[in-house]
Amino acid sequence: MKSRALRIALLVFAVLVLTCAGRVFFKLWPELTRPNRVDLAFQFPSPLELAGLPTASRFDFPMGSEHGALTYNAQRFTENRHLGDDLNGIGGENSDLGDPIYAVADGRVLLARDGGPGWGNVIIVLHAYLDQEQRKFVQSYYAHVETMLVHAGDKVQRGQQIATVGTGNGRYLAHLHFEMREFTTPFIGPGYREDTRGWVNPTGFIQAHRGAPEDDVGRAPQM
Ligand SMILES: [Zn+2]
Repeated sequence: MKSRALRIALLVFAVLVLTCAGRVFFKLWPELTRPNRVDLAFQFPSPLELAGLPTASRFDFPMGSEHGALTYNAQRFTENRHLGDDLNGIGGENSDLGDPIYAVADGRVLLARDGGPGWGNVIIVLHAYLDQEQRKFVQSYYAHVETMLVHAGDKVQRGQQIATVGTGNGRYLAHLHFEMREFTTPFIGPGYREDTRGWVNPTGFIQAHRGAPEDDVGRAPQM
């Protein structure tokens, strides 16, 4: 009699555990099967890959020319806690929609994917460069882009077109949200933050690492 009661108790317990596990599994299923959870776009660079990155000797601006003749900065780094620059065509509104976006230097694409609401398509390129004889890493971050012309893992060259200017899936007037960061891992950031550690002033960095005459924009002039 006693063993029968125990068996029933065990059975009830087993059913409870299974129900509970089933519910957890059911709840987690969308998370587990969400494609971006296993997205190969998240390729963390190994030390070997980092060593194999070309050393960029020069950085150019991702849009227009360095004289600002074709673009303007609508929201500068740290303005309203902004972690990047918002680059716009001088025509304003959506006049720059579809304009080319260029890789700022030689490097390797770490990520090229939809960054979710608020971001739209995002491309991250990792670069190696020399800072007082020391090899360092910096990444360029291009957001709200319309068309992505590169994939994660691609090697890119300075001045190579990697995307076109977009609206973040219709959320903004067309512009390029452009960040430069000292991270080597691909992650889609907050866009705005008080604490800017890990981020660098994109315009300041490029101006400091141009390595080219002022009148050389790094590509054929746009008409
Ligand atoms: Zn922005």
